[in-house]
Amino acid sequence: MARYGQDKIEEVRSRADIVEIIGAHVRLRRSGRNFTGLCPFHDEKTPSFSVSAERGFFHCFGCGAGGTVFDFVMRIEGLTFPEALQSLARRCGVTLPPPENEPGGAPAGERDTLVKANQTAAEFYAHVLWNTADGAAPREYLHSRGITVETARAFMLGFAPARPANLAAALHKRGLAEAGLKLGLLRSDDRSAPYDMFRGRLMFPIRDVQGRVIAFGGRVLDSRLPKYINSPESPLYSKARTVYGIVEARPAIAKADRAIIVEGYIDVIALWQAGFKETVASLGTSLTVEQLRLLGRYTKNLIACFDGDAAGRKASMRALEVFLEAGLLGRGAFIPPGFDPDTLVRQRGAQAFGEIIEAGELLVDYFLREQAEAARGSMDERARVAERVAQILGKVANPFEFDLLARKAATLIGIGEELLRSEARKGGAGRRGVNSRPPEVSAPVKPIAIAPQGAAAQAELGLLVIAMRWPECRRLIAAQLGLDDISDGLRPLIKEVCASDEAPASLEIAVMSRLTEQERGQLSALMVGPLFSDAAQSIALVEDYLIALDTHQRRGQEAELRRTAVTGTIEEGAAAAQAVITSRREARRH
Ligand SMILES: [Zn+2]
Repeated sequence: MARYGQDKIEEVRSRADIVEIIGAHVRLRRSGRNFTGLCPFHDEKTPSFSVSAERGFFHCFGCGAGGTVFDFVMRIEGLTFPEALQSLARRCGVTLPPPENEPGGAPAGERDTLVKANQTAAEFYAHVLWNTADGAAPREYLHSRGITVETARAFMLGFAPARPANLAAALHKRGLAEAGLKLGLLRSDDRSAPYDMFRGRLMFPIRDVQGRVIAFGGRVLDSRLPKYINSPESPLYSKARTVYGIVEARPAIAKADRAIIVEGYIDVIALWQAGFKETVASLGTSLTVEQLRLLGRYTKNLIACFDGDAAGRKASMRALEVFLEAGLLGRGAFIPPGFDPDTLVRQRGAQAFGEIIEAGELLVDYFLREQAEAARGSMDERARVAERVAQILGKVANPFEFDLLARKAATLIGIGEELLRSEARKGGAGRRGVNSRPPEVSAPVKPIAIAPQGAAAQAELGLLVIAMRWPECRRLIAAQLGLDDISDGLRPLIKEVCASDEAPASLEIAVMSRLTEQERGQLSALMVGPLFSDAAQSIALVEDYLIALDTHQRRGQEAELRRTAVTGTIEEGAAAAQAVITSRREARRH
């Protein structure tokens, strides 16, 4: 983090309103001195996520996540610190100087190298498409699908020539062959030189929210199989967490306050060209919770396109569960059988497609209507319907939506609302019908274990917070801690903070970057809590913490002495016993 000056980091932190930044992802309500809401990092139904505007910290008492506004952005957008800094600086209008080169020209991080390899590949493929004879056939193909040059360029389309080892040579020349192998752009069988993975394919660069190329999709122009191949998972690319077209669509999503979700690259591109610029694709998989959470940051109004046939209707019901799990009520738009979004918009026009999107209804409404139909059957059937409905309702995280839907469901199906509510709560998230296929869900967020802390660890943490927040306490703490040179726990860090004359705002960020995830969680819990609100109170706490540390240390020494008293010689035992007595006397004096 030395790449930018402390003053810039401080400026960004002071200008970025933590409540506003977090508020874009979490519905926050004021509660006493803090703001609270549902944690975006784990599933919950009652708010345990707290933001202190005053102190510029957030903390979740459910999963232990916490930190400054930088930690929040890093975590929710999956960014490194410099990336989060840049992103926040952009958002609050701070101009950052270009990052200084590390002295001695240290090699750029692995991530940067991988990004560079992908960028090189994208440029190589685009060059082949537009400027070479190999590009003639794919240019003709794009023309036949009605994709203009302007559109193709906006999506950075390219072509991977059929002759092998073209890209391999280009990457090798730039020292990026290793990165190319890691990204799956190149392959190497035993002893063979690396060769191109994508050959004779129209190339779709997949970019992340920052606009960096993180992967590729490649489509054949003829009837060869497989029709599409995609980059494998890599340190840059996780299929389940990526949506195609997000960079191109983001401004339009914000403007229209909605996002249209389709399946394929060509669908996104065709709709973009037809004026539906708020379109993204799920990369051919069924939707994942992460993809929806990503989109949910920009709009809550998500409309997923499904085939209008029976299989499509079924797919929409699976998607409903994933939507609810992501804390969203999705809409479904059904494309008439025989069409996909691309062919529909080309053959029937933008207006026809627009009408289908407008007609999209809440998936949960559609689900309830279907269940109401089924509930007309036998008693048995009705009981099964009630159970299914309760199970789906149990996944609705927002209490207001839950309330509304429970009422609606009770009326539609004709079962007691109270029964439905209690069944739904009993089931809750996680319980799934035996027959319903579990939706594609990534590994659940692992809650950070908040270890039961000893008094000593708690005291160290408290001293660290006080030293950070109250420069006037630093000398006092340093003097008391300076007498011994215990080098474990947080003490070395506390001493460093005490020796510093930096302001709390920038010091806090430096300290957070040095802590483990668990320690960050413990520290943020203190930061959003009621302690340390003024210097006088904090000074009083310093005394308590020092006594706690002292007691802890003495107990350790006493235990050691007692062991000596038992195992040592008579003289040693006598000396140890005397030392324990002295130590006890010392303790009573406090
Ligand atoms: Zn949480």
